[in-house]
Amino acid sequence: MSKINTKEIVKNNKKPGKNADKKTYFLSKISNYCDKCGAKYTEKDVTIVSDNGAQAIIHFKCTSCLAEHFANYIDSVGASNKMPFNSDMRTQELMKFLSSGGVTADDVIDVYEAVSK
Ligand SMILES: [Zn+2]
Repeated sequence: MSKINTKEIVKNNKKPGKNADKKTYFLSKISNYCDKCGAKYTEKDVTIVSDNGAQAIIHFKCTSCLAEHFANYIDSVGASNKMPFNSDMRTQELMKFLSSGGVTADDVIDVYEAVSK
């Protein structure tokens, strides 16, 4: 019952240049720097997990320290929150974080696993 197409997202994010403007946009709106080590993110460190125009879920992977974060961005208010992510995170915690929008924790984990390969 997945509302998002994981394969499509992964394909789009792996294409060079695809979503580049959006990624730059989210970087500027959410965070340009790794929360853990302070390294500057580049477009290739960012995966847009979900973006319905109103709300977006972004995955960050730092190339310096390999720390991973998810961010939830709400376009209408320009608000975002960002949290560390590791694969041990319980699904419930992730669901709490992603409390709105059409994305399930399973979707996010699917994308996470796909982009982590
Ligand atoms: Zn880092």
